Amino acid sequence: MKNAGDVETGLSSFEEFLGELYHKYKSLRDGTVANYIPELAKVNPELFSICIVTADGRVYEVGDRTHLFTIQSISKVLVYGLALEDRGRDYMLTRVGVEPTGDAFNAIILDELSKRPYNPMVNAGAIATTSLIKGTGATERLNRLLDMYRRYVGHDVFVDISVFTSERSTGHRNRAMAHLMLNFGMIDVHIEEALDLYFQQCAVMVNCRDLAVMAATLANRGINPITGEKAVDSTYIKDILSVMYTCGMYNFAGEWAYKIGIPAKSGVSGGIIAVIPGYMGIAVFSPLLDSRGNSVRGVKVCEELSHKFGLHMFDCVQRNLESIPES
Ligand code: GLU
Repeated sequence: MKNAGDVETGLSSFEEFLGELYHKYKSLRDGTVANYIPELAKVNPELFSICIVTADGRVYEVGDRTHLFTIQSISKVLVYGLALEDRGRDYMLTRVGVEPTGDAFNAIILDELSKRPYNPMVNAGAIATTSLIKGTGATERLNRLLDMYRRYVGHDVFVDISVFTSERSTGHRNRAMAHLMLNFGMIDVHIEEALDLYFQQCAVMVNCRDLAVMAATLANRGINPITGEKAVDSTYIKDILSVMYTCGMYNFAGEWAYKIGIPAKSGVSGGIIAVIPGYMGIAVFSPLLDSRGNSVRGVKVCEELSHKFGLHMFDCVQRNLESIPES
């Protein structure tokens, strides 16, 4: 097995192109860092990195590539995959919908008729999803999540205790959502345990390359292209990518799908992953966020990559994946 760190990353014209993108947007300082989780407010707003991993395991990266940050909402994608494996598609659909909300990620809303949270990419749906992860107790469930992350990134990962406790002690909205779902019987009584696991999954530390390897794993039918290990059952890749496409970018998801046209997910720590099925995973990290919670530089970089290589899923005119150079 190869580790991500063993991969050849000799400078190529593609990497030079990423370098140009990096320098172009490094001077963009719009946006603010997330501060509603006190520990996140301490991040250096200058940090910026871009990484692309192809479905056959080539790595291209620029910027603060080794900087570790908490994965936050990008975790929702992976945990949804694990819940689908644990519970199956039909059962998951009875508990968590697949409808975009058009509302903020932390809106305290459920579907009027079904009482389900709208989708697994918003907080309510993610908490319900996490509560469905199988295991005989809190430790086994956490270990199953950590092992899932290991398969996706190719090495062990850890929970940042400061971010976890920061969120646990201030996450009143998330606690309110869990109580609302308990009221409607959409989540079982162990809500504190489910919330702890949700806060822990969000507080897992990753770097930009880890995110790109995760995205490339999703692009490669659930097989980590660096280690060759299966991270998620390929049956569920289409479920995961569908909700990323329609719901992954907060209340910008529709405009993102329209303009950029790639299944993606962002998190409030400043990460974005984007998946080009069969080709590559893209990751950008920059903690300055716009008003919806998406990384400002991250959106710009993805927009430019999409336009340059015709990555929009429905762009039959510009689509030009073959022009991505070999390393
Ligand atoms: N842990 C964060 C929360 O629940 C995740 C939010 C996000 O990244 O969108 O508020």
